[in-house]
Amino acid sequence: MRNLTDKSFSISGSNLIKIAASVFLVMGLNTNPAAAENIGHDGLKTIYHIYNDGKYIGAVNEDEKVEDLVEAKVAEAGQEFKELNLEPDESFNMIAEQVFEPAAKNEEEILAALDEELEVKASTFALAMDGKVIAQLKDRSAYDETLRQVLLAYASPEELDQWEASKRTPEALPELEAGETRVTLIDIEDNLSGMSDQAAPADISTPEEAATLLLEEKDITVTVEKEEKVKEGLKFETVEKEDEELFIGKSKVEQKGKDGEKQVVYTITETDGEQSGREAVEEEVTAEPVEKVVLNGVKELPSVGTGKFVWPAQGGYISSKKGPRWGREHKGIDIAQPDGFDILAADHGVVKAAGADGTFGNRVIIDHGNGYETIYAHLKTIDVKVGAKVPQGTKIGVMGTTGRSTGIHLHFEISKNGATQNPLDYVKQ
Ligand SMILES: [Zn+2]
Repeated sequence: MRNLTDKSFSISGSNLIKIAASVFLVMGLNTNPAAAENIGHDGLKTIYHIYNDGKYIGAVNEDEKVEDLVEAKVAEAGQEFKELNLEPDESFNMIAEQVFEPAAKNEEEILAALDEELEVKASTFALAMDGKVIAQLKDRSAYDETLRQVLLAYASPEELDQWEASKRTPEALPELEAGETRVTLIDIEDNLSGMSDQAAPADISTPEEAATLLLEEKDITVTVEKEEKVKEGLKFETVEKEDEELFIGKSKVEQKGKDGEKQVVYTITETDGEQSGREAVEEEVTAEPVEKVVLNGVKELPSVGTGKFVWPAQGGYISSKKGPRWGREHKGIDIAQPDGFDILAADHGVVKAAGADGTFGNRVIIDHGNGYETIYAHLKTIDVKVGAKVPQGTKIGVMGTTGRSTGIHLHFEISKNGATQNPLDYVKQ
């Protein structure tokens, strides 16, 4: 018949002993606290069996001696490891038994064996990877600090604080402003876990050591997710339209293009500090772009003249009229000192000749298809080729002084059915 009492110890480094005792009465027997020498009124005596490291050491009569021994060993270790919570190895166990037999006799030997074998451990919080303990931290807060240091290898303290704060707030985050970035997730590979444990005091790592182990030897992965709102330009499009008023080959801009603007929210994923993903998740156009409209002429080039002529230069004055000059007939007019040097077709027509021609220098002849022809001489350069349709006002060359000429000017003639006309009857400046 047995009555077992299980006592377990939790002893802190400050040498306080707390004993949680629970009495389990198998047969409803009462213990009498007043009975001396652990002897009950029914003649039973309590002895204490001591186990350590899975081994039975022996039984003693006085549990207080065991407690004193344990306390002394813990206190001694506490001299060296002041920061730790020290306690006997968890394999240490003392079990009370009520017996009829006489008490244990070799108590001193048993206590000496326990003194020899009992290890003082520190209570710890173990860091495990894939379920296997890889480091021992002194407590839960040292464990938390270890994980924080791992995160700080890839996130700034501000980002970490912001992330911690956002986890505590149940409300949705305010909308981002353009140019803002914030952290939405900071996560360590989820194969880490922690648990209460025991370890030899010398085997306890600092958070710095444990973080270095994770980062450098275990190559732990840290994922940081951020969201970022940025302003981006929206390129305008160009639209081309046909215009019946414009001659073929001509085009003009009817409406200037203007870029728009949009705000885009990106989610960015960083793995161990390297960007591993960037995705646009939201887009808002804040300014629509204005399309550029270009008109392209589709109007057939006219090759037959109107019979009405325009001034073939850009301003200038008549330096010589048609008529007798230096003993011979001057068959056209000379125009000099213009505002610009473009030479223009005086009426619609087709280029009949374009090139060097003796005293004319570089000259162009336009056949207006209605009996009229015009001649433009002494050009510096010619811009048209024979056969080209030249609507009235088309630039055909640049004023010069090629051929027999004493200065930069345009020599201009008009003929009708082969008969030379006085240009001043047809054009006015
Ligand atoms: Zn002339």
